[in-house]
Amino acid sequence: MTGKPTPMMQQYHRLKAEAEGCLLFYRMGDFFELFFDDARQAAAILDIALTTRGEHGGEAVPMCGVPVHAAEGYLARLIKAGCRVAIAEQVETPEEAKERARREGSPVSKALVKRDIVRFVTAGTLTEEALLEPRRANVLAAVCEVRGALGVASVDISTGRMELESTATNNLGAALARLGASEIVVPEGWFEAPDAAFQRPRSDFASEAGERRLKTVHDVATLDAFGDFDRAMLAAAGGLIAYLDHVGRGNLPLLLPPVARSGERHLAMDEATRTSLEILVSQQGSRQGSLVAAIDRCSTGAGARLLAEDLSAPLCDRDAIAQRLQLVQWLYDDPLLRADLRQVLRALPDIGRALGRIVAGRGSPRDLGQIRDGLAEARRIRDVLATKPDRPELLERLLPAMGGHGALVDHLQRALVPSPPTERQNGGFVAEGYDAALDALRLVSGNARRAIAALEGKYRGETGIAALKIRHNGVLGYFIEVPARHADALMAPDSGFTHRQTMAGAVRFNSLSLHEEAGRIGEAGGRGIAAEEAHFEELVGEVVATRETIAAAAAALARIDVAAGQAERAAEGGWCRPEIVEHACLEIVDGRHPVVEAALASSGARFVANDCRLSPDDRLWLIGGPNMGGKSTFLRQNALIVLLAQAGGFVPASAATIGLVDRLFSRVGASDNLARGRSTFMVEMVETAAILAQATTRSFVILDEVGRGTSTYDGLALAWAVVEAVHETNRSRCLFATHYHELSRLAESCDALSLHHVRAREWKGDLVLLHELAEGPADRSYGLAVAKLAGVPKPVVARAKSVLDRLEKGRAETGGIAAGLGDLPLFATAFAAEPETSDGLRERLAALDLDALSPREALDLLYELKREAGKTET
Ligand code: ADP
Repeated sequence: MTGKPTPMMQQYHRLKAEAEGCLLFYRMGDFFELFFDDARQAAAILDIALTTRGEHGGEAVPMCGVPVHAAEGYLARLIKAGCRVAIAEQVETPEEAKERARREGSPVSKALVKRDIVRFVTAGTLTEEALLEPRRANVLAAVCEVRGALGVASVDISTGRMELESTATNNLGAALARLGASEIVVPEGWFEAPDAAFQRPRSDFASEAGERRLKTVHDVATLDAFGDFDRAMLAAAGGLIAYLDHVGRGNLPLLLPPVARSGERHLAMDEATRTSLEILVSQQGSRQGSLVAAIDRCSTGAGARLLAEDLSAPLCDRDAIAQRLQLVQWLYDDPLLRADLRQVLRALPDIGRALGRIVAGRGSPRDLGQIRDGLAEARRIRDVLATKPDRPELLERLLPAMGGHGALVDHLQRALVPSPPTERQNGGFVAEGYDAALDALRLVSGNARRAIAALEGKYRGETGIAALKIRHNGVLGYFIEVPARHADALMAPDSGFTHRQTMAGAVRFNSLSLHEEAGRIGEAGGRGIAAEEAHFEELVGEVVATRETIAAAAAALARIDVAAGQAERAAEGGWCRPEIVEHACLEIVDGRHPVVEAALASSGARFVANDCRLSPDDRLWLIGGPNMGGKSTFLRQNALIVLLAQAGGFVPASAATIGLVDRLFSRVGASDNLARGRSTFMVEMVETAAILAQATTRSFVILDEVGRGTSTYDGLALAWAVVEAVHETNRSRCLFATHYHELSRLAESCDALSLHHVRAREWKGDLVLLHELAEGPADRSYGLAVAKLAGVPKPVVARAKSVLDRLEKGRAETGGIAAGLGDLPLFATAFAAEPETSDGLRERLAALDLDALSPREALDLLYELKREAGKTET
């Protein structure tokens, strides 16, 4: 028989339905409990015990729980594992529940505490310091399609930065790759939605509603002052704000005025390019080994986040780039100022994120303290910088934002203690002298505490019990405690003490005086906490009212930090300031790859710098040479130098003149990138097709071994056609690395194409890779020497050499690659001719390609090997 669900289970199921697919954290006393499948899932992820509680539908209900005080750590792990969590809190005390039951006439003993979902915790809507990475933005994106255009709204709610973009629908991948969002919401049933996206009602994504929501949030009658927003942008903004409203249960986080993003202002890069250049994450998926990790010398988390944004969206506007470079140069030229500045910045609190928590209603006194200290520091930094001569234009624009807030800082300084706590229930964060009434209340409790301490001495004297103590706990409050053997004296009716509790070895009492003093502390304490709470609310209100200018100060500091970090990196690595020009050239002298160079340096090796000189007349370099010779590295370093320069930083070279690039493409021939689930060669071709469709005369394209993913003839033919197309039709600047010798012939027909190779030398039979770029075609292919270098067994290399000789002979005689193979002796026979040792036997076995042998050949070989083995044994 299945019984009727208990009221608690009914409440649970109602909340679970409201949680819309999120895990439900159901508050029970000091724990958040999870039930049913939620419990199974969470227990597995968190590696905690799965138990049961009662039954439902005749079966035991699986349950697991986490203590409330440690919930943040568990939440972090669940979010990381891709879960979304709804927090159901008790919104009344058990006493209130009983009171309510009494009023409603239901059984008081069974009164169920009311619970509500107070918040959803999702990857894109975190504000807690403990759940966020200081050096990474945390982006939530909403995406939708409106009449053939794609609207993308994104926000980092930890700092309030909001951006709206409208783009072509086929740019979805590129737009999302740039944002690196940790959570994406889309309208229900949208066919094109990315896999992990979360669906929300379609009605949330209406452009009129979106416009209305934006106006309400910013309390304006028109959005004109913020920029030009089209319908796709507004629809996406609507979806985003509606979602934030849902997740915060009506409590909106910090949202700064939206910025309209325009594609033309930024260097366009698609997803494949970003992945292959390893801008923010390496191919292994970590920050380590990425471009940003090799560049980042920022002193603050906010600076590091802005640097990542700069690198994700380099500029296309010469003037804007020049302004950033000018600031980097200014700080580069003054190492002392830079050192001081970086030191001061290192101690700066993360104002932006503290503000984010405060506006979201999750702020603490400590966050207010951070705003106070951060803004005070901003003013000091402004005062120092403002006295320096020859200030760059960008700095002049940033300084005013850092100077305001005098009154707010002053108020926070008067109101708060030097290091306010993160908790506010117990008060203690309002400074002395700020509120006379609060001081008086504190005086009362202080006096009462002293009176209680005095009582202890007095009672000891009166009773003669030296072990008598006055103690305090959360349940009884203040009490007098004596060891059990002395209790009788205090039990006497006329002793003036009243019995409260008998413990194993002690007995506890109260007294009238103690009761009175404790009452004073209790009342004064309660009123004091209420007073502090009111001050907290008032200070929060003041901060919220000036949120936009506080955010502007934080942004100005982050920009200065990025520039100081870039200058520092340049000084450290001997980098230069690039010159950005309009015509389509790319002249890099002594260019280096920042990530490879750093990796080599850590193992004591030196990086060989190389030049790149592309111009309209010599715009496509075909680069040959041995594997591992440094072709990929050279290609990438030039792409990264362009990216760094247009992000407004110095570059790893001794000189660089860069014609502004509108689109950057990087492609690597398919190898073992199967993880992406499409045929690798298919992927390679899809990505190549995109270049041919989109690259312009202002683009820069690097193609690494394209054509590698298919058979020799196909691959060569495709590589040939792609080079021709880039040269003739797209006319982009291009570096093309290939191991196809045959492509050298393109130099005859393509006049703006030139041949280059990475140098190698054979020395005492071994291959030495020089990693040095030289003009002209590669003299030959070094595949066999590389194989030897890599430890392929000698007999196999020797065998390959004879195959190669035949192939080349055949080609020379008949023009067909495979023609020479006809009279090639079998591998085994070729081998048998060589003198054998028992080690030779082992090598022969290791080198066998069993699949290439017919059964008959295999049997013959086996007899032969047996014979050989017999020989060596005797
Ligand atoms: P390829 O593309 O020709 O196969 P890579 O560019 O992948 O070669 O380089 C192979 C390795 O050679 C790199 O991992 C690096 O260790 C080293 N290398 C590449 N370029 C240089 C250089 N310019 N100076 C020193 N070492 C280099």
